[in-house]
Amino acid sequence: QADIAMYWAKEKGRDNAQFFSAEMVNVITKKFGFEKEINEALSLGHFHLVFQPKVFMEKDNILGLEALIRWNHPIKGLIPPSEFIPIAEESSLIIKIDEWVINQALKQQKSWRDQGLTIVSIAVNLSGRHLVSDSLVPYISQKLEYYGIEGCWLEIEITEGVLLKDIQRCIEVMAELKALDIKISVDDFGTGYSSLSYLKRLPLDILKIDQSFVEECDSHVEDTKICETIIHLAQSLELAIVAEGVETAPQAEMLKSLGCEIFQGYYYHKPMKSNEIAKLLIKDYVVA
Ligand code: C2E
Ligand code: MG
Ligand code: MG
Ligand code: MG
Repeated sequence: QADIAMYWAKEKGRDNAQFFSAEMVNVITKKFGFEKEINEALSLGHFHLVFQPKVFMEKDNILGLEALIRWNHPIKGLIPPSEFIPIAEESSLIIKIDEWVINQALKQQKSWRDQGLTIVSIAVNLSGRHLVSDSLVPYISQKLEYYGIEGCWLEIEITEGVLLKDIQRCIEVMAELKALDIKISVDDFGTGYSSLSYLKRLPLDILKIDQSFVEECDSHVEDTKICETIIHLAQSLELAIVAEGVETAPQAEMLKSLGCEIFQGYYYHKPMKSNEIAKLLIKDYVVA
């Protein structure tokens, strides 16, 4: 209760006297409970990664993988990231999760490499809080060295909104990531409000068209035009373009006709566990 009172007072500012309603207590207790559970899940090994391939034109040409976190809760079952990442992002817990993901992804890559499989790049999703923190770059460089993996095999996905919060700091951190040869993608592109000048100032490599535009790119002319515009924008800024959430052949055909070459989505591959990915990474299967 003391913890809760302090938390609430901090949230609301020191000068305001706060009265507790049952609802406040309920909300905060739930939040603290969930944070505690996330911490426990990290130490008990209840998280795992799945990997979704990104392909060049065709299903079999795997260019890279995206690591996506899964929480297998002993009682509640599989909890999707949309239900715990936003809560974790409200505190430094997200840094613990992101670090767990980076470590796990690089460890997995080392293991595939040791098995003699084809190496493709792995993308991890990072929260904005983590991107601008001082600890990100030292953590990544230490892990790359530990697992003996070159930075060019790691990709960072950042959502657009993050770029707007502290552009100067983003530029600094991204420069350090580029010095390690790490690739940088803007995830869910088109849903935020990046100005063109921001895009020009940041050392980006890839734009990922948000799946909300892909969904009806073959049936709604507005969405077709948005996809076309994003693809042209990427081309003129010399960025690679990835369409995410591609589910059908007509969507893929439309995107191809607009100039998109890299695809991710259920139509090609669903996110898979590492042992299934290993089967796809057998030499000669992949044209990376
Ligand atoms: P995202 O990075 O944009 O990931 C794409 C999401 O779309 C994933 O959902 C993926 O499973 C799903 N997806 C892929 N292909 C298709 C498709 O064809 N159709 C549809 N309907 N969905 C598709 P997921 O794994 O539930 O992740 C949701 C979001 O949670 C991610 O969006 C990302 O923002 C966040 N997230 C996931 N893993 C991590 C993580 O390790 N760290 C952080 N910070 N965030 C993560
Ligand atoms: Mg992503
Ligand atoms: Mg996305
Ligand atoms: Mg998303």
